[in-house]
Amino acid sequence: MCGIAGVYGVQNAERLVAEILFATQHRGQESCGIATRNARGNVIAHKAMGLVKNVLTEDILSYYSGEISIGHVRYPTSASSNIDNAQPFAIDLAEGPHMAVCTNGSIVNYEQLRSYLEKEAGFTFLSDNDSELMGRLIAYYHVVNHIPIEEALPKALGQIHGAYAALLILRDKMFAFRDPYGIRPMVMGHLVGNVREEQLSDGTVFASEGCGFGIIGAREIRKVAPGEILCLQKGEPVRTIAKAPKTPLRHCVFELIYFSRPDSMTFDERVWDVRREIGAALAKKDRDELVGDDLVVIPVPDSSNFVAQGYAEASGLPFGMGLLRNHYVGRTFINPTQRSRDEGVRQKFNPLPDYFPGKRVILVDDSIVRGTSLRKLVRMIKGAGAKEVHVRVGSPPVVSPCYYGIDTPVPEELIANILPVPKIAKYMDADSLKYMDIEDFHEILSNHQDYCFACFNGDYVIKPADFESNPTISTDF
Ligand code: AMP
Repeated sequence: MCGIAGVYGVQNAERLVAEILFATQHRGQESCGIATRNARGNVIAHKAMGLVKNVLTEDILSYYSGEISIGHVRYPTSASSNIDNAQPFAIDLAEGPHMAVCTNGSIVNYEQLRSYLEKEAGFTFLSDNDSELMGRLIAYYHVVNHIPIEEALPKALGQIHGAYAALLILRDKMFAFRDPYGIRPMVMGHLVGNVREEQLSDGTVFASEGCGFGIIGAREIRKVAPGEILCLQKGEPVRTIAKAPKTPLRHCVFELIYFSRPDSMTFDERVWDVRREIGAALAKKDRDELVGDDLVVIPVPDSSNFVAQGYAEASGLPFGMGLLRNHYVGRTFINPTQRSRDEGVRQKFNPLPDYFPGKRVILVDDSIVRGTSLRKLVRMIKGAGAKEVHVRVGSPPVVSPCYYGIDTPVPEELIANILPVPKIAKYMDADSLKYMDIEDFHEILSNHQDYCFACFNGDYVIKPADFESNPTISTDF
């Protein structure tokens, strides 16, 4: 998972991009970067391993100054944690360095497209990341085959199957586009001073999530529609230059469960409110079962705070911040060994002293993947004196890997794939364990049929096996 941001047609666009990236740092902490079109018309990128505040410093931002800028924060994956895979990806065209692209998602037919471009078009790849593939494929149609960009883009994207929300700078234009299923989010806004001219390209901003818009003085206008390609050009209105044929939508439900910040509107849903409703649905399942003055509802901070709040409100039980989280411990989830994941959880959470003795705890988390966090936490809370710990999970059991950009482990590591629920409870020493049902989500979401639940039910709209024997590129120029 990653986050993207873009700003078109205002001075020091890169500063606004850096601010949005900082607000969306939760979407990726491995590396980050920007690409900006400078006064000479060159598109130059700066990227490094590390957090936005450490990489996009004042010195860097003043050097990379321009009116068109895009940026990216990358989510750590143990497989390919290196600078080559940082984004945005800048591509030199024959005329000069005039192109850069960044994307959030995952291209399912990556291998087939890459091997075509390497073998048939003689391209050399410098990384394993999707944005390089996307950039080179666009360049293949537009530069190698001389197709005007407004036709080359839909042709190139027509070859790409998977999840993407992407931004492209090409010379003095910027393009924003999302996959036809709308798997990953992207919203568009406008800097508030220009409200009267808000349909103009100048002052337009893009981001995976709108939580950074207020901070830079921008107002969210709408989503980039699934399958839509937007073009921004100086002095011109924002134009939709193409729209992919309509397909069923498949928004990633995990964005609402875990990834998006609670103050974002993702897929037109208020994330915090969805999470509160998840909590209320969990509480409903426990009505008449968990009662008593010694009960307290505790979130695993921070992603479960609103779920626990919703549970507490609906059940009338008290809410307590019984676990403290050290925000300077990175994501423990992706650590390569079980030992380092265990160690990470131990460093990350601490029980509130003298809080737990005599209490029965309803411990709320957003999801269980390998079971590492809750196994540690239940023991920690019991060790701190709690009489009982009842675990409630704000999502259904994760049983299948994600091909669309969420770093879920292989099926053999997914605990719900290996053990039935009572055994998972036993494994984590919980007195009881309940998950959300997919049907519970159907009631909460405005349009549940527009969501992907593949990690919970294995129902994939596209999967890598679909491409194994298929030709994947149209050479119909
Ligand atoms: P686990 O400890 O393996 O059961 O993972 C579940 C915990 O990791 C939950 O507390 C989630 O908030 C968090 N989580 C779930 N999915 C992901 C993901 N794809 N990347 C990082 N953290 C995650």
